[in-house]
Amino acid sequence: MNKQQWITQGETLFGQDKMQWKFKCPCCGHIATVQDYKKAGAPSSAVGFSCVGRWLEVRKEAFDDKDKRKIPCNYAGGGLINISPVDVDGRKVFEFGV
Ligand SMILES: [Zn+2]
Repeated sequence: MNKQQWITQGETLFGQDKMQWKFKCPCCGHIATVQDYKKAGAPSSAVGFSCVGRWLEVRKEAFDDKDKRKIPCNYAGGGLINISPVDVDGRKVFEFGV
């Protein structure tokens, strides 16, 4: 989809206030709001692209199936393996977390 379609979808799900938009990490399943990213000190380019766990002290390794803790991971959309399911103008991003 293109960026406008994606924004329309986000506004339909969460409203105009983007701080409340939620994204689901394709690796660990953790759902974070834009506000969560901001609070963790992540750059806006990371929202819906890399897991918020990258900016948290308590996190687990991405793709570590043995770690069953319900905490965010350090998955990076810019890493070697990109499993983000949504394509927005050619950029692979997280699906919305509903
Ligand atoms: Zn994650």
